[in-house]
Amino acid sequence: MSRPRADLERQLLRKSLGALTRDRHRCSDCGRTPLAGERIHHYEHGAVVCALCRPHHGGEPAETLTVLHCEHGHTVRRLRAA
Ligand SMILES: [Zn+2]
Repeated sequence: MSRPRADLERQLLRKSLGALTRDRHRCSDCGRTPLAGERIHHYEHGAVVCALCRPHHGGEPAETLTVLHCEHGHTVRRLRAA
């Protein structure tokens, strides 16, 4: 049985998950969103810094991740010649 309310909830959930992902990948130092393929460093105290800000933080990051093409993967599109 189809329930429109459940669909809406799912949409909202997806939206908030997207926001969460964006926030997680934003550098907490410069506020920049790292580009796809760029390394980001997670520290244990919750800071997420981009590769450029990494030298300003002492110590080893708890985790180093490569930003995936999840949000910007479709922005590069080959245009067909007219
Ligand atoms: Zn930064």
